[in-house]
Amino acid sequence: MTFTPDLLSRCISCGFCLPACPTYELTKDERSSPRGRIALMRALETGTLPMNDPGVAEESSFCLGCRACEVVCPAGVEYGQLLEEWRDATWRGRRRPVVVRALLRAVDRTWKVRLLGLFRRHARRRTGGSASLMLGCFERFLYPKVSRSAVALDPRLDVDPGQGCCGALHAHNGELAEGRALARKLGERLPGTIVTTSGGCAAHLADVLGRDRVVELSAWLSGPASAAGAALPGPAGPILVDGRPARIGLQDSCHLRNGLGVWREPRAILAALGEYVEVPGAASCCGAAGTYALVRPEDSAKVVAPKVDALRRLDLDILVTVNPGCTRQLQTAVRKAGLRTRVVHLAELAASARTDGSGR
Ligand code: SF4
Ligand code: SF4
Repeated sequence: MTFTPDLLSRCISCGFCLPACPTYELTKDERSSPRGRIALMRALETGTLPMNDPGVAEESSFCLGCRACEVVCPAGVEYGQLLEEWRDATWRGRRRPVVVRALLRAVDRTWKVRLLGLFRRHARRRTGGSASLMLGCFERFLYPKVSRSAVALDPRLDVDPGQGCCGALHAHNGELAEGRALARKLGERLPGTIVTTSGGCAAHLADVLGRDRVVELSAWLSGPASAAGAALPGPAGPILVDGRPARIGLQDSCHLRNGLGVWREPRAILAALGEYVEVPGAASCCGAAGTYALVRPEDSAKVVAPKVDALRRLDLDILVTVNPGCTRQLQTAVRKAGLRTRVVHLAELAASARTDGSGR
């Protein structure tokens, strides 16, 4: 048995999810919709289609895993879990994209993850606090300032530099058991509450360790940290650009919004930092989607294109992200389009506003 039976049988084929699905929006092809993909999973489960069917492989890879279909589903289909089980069954050996295999191997041991951040200036401070900051494996390498900013915002956060990967990458890319094992290992290493700066990691960790153990940074700053007086907007007040409050937008993290229901919190923080502008389509996937932008760059570019159009129309000063993959995707897209909008993680923007009001 490949799929959890109850999950697969829940779908009533109503089609409410189709308009929410970015890949269906691109193709208008039923097979590239959540309902169509669930039909393929059922065919695999009954043996009507073999595990190595090329069409099935194509759809399991074309799906962004954004879980936009979950939040509109009246039957409570947990599509994210079904997708993890699907890839776990079919992305075996050479059927797993080469770039995915390389990334998984890069972070499958704690020492390798530590190596990624060895020469980067990410946060390392031990405080003995009751909450730990999770250092994302690629975030500590690509965006080390994010963890330094998080600690500047709440100095009580404990940062264990010896922590490993949370396993989200593995769970989303066909190594479900390994992904869960890594999350449990991290949960043992970081006792108490775990605060994360990555929506994708937050949702995976919460799934394995329980919702009460994991808090994403914007929710932490709006909730527990705020109650303890460690939060925003800080003494410097709103960020100014040319003497006026900066026009700031947000790109949601799919897993944070659709998996954990966190979307109000980052908006409330940004509204205190400048003039908040809602970006049309902020809730839909930017095309980063974990490894998607690397595995399917052309489709990823198609998914992000309407966002670039919206950003061009809005002419924002700053676009904020709450997930490192989204930061990278949107920085690249904005640069290629020649837009002046700066793309930055929420932690960095909030910490810099607190320090000197520059937003830099
Ligand atoms: S996944 Fe949910 S919304 Fe989509 S067809 Fe099935 S029951 Fe309907
Ligand atoms: S996870 Fe996203 S891309 Fe995949 S079927 Fe659901 S809505 Fe479509």
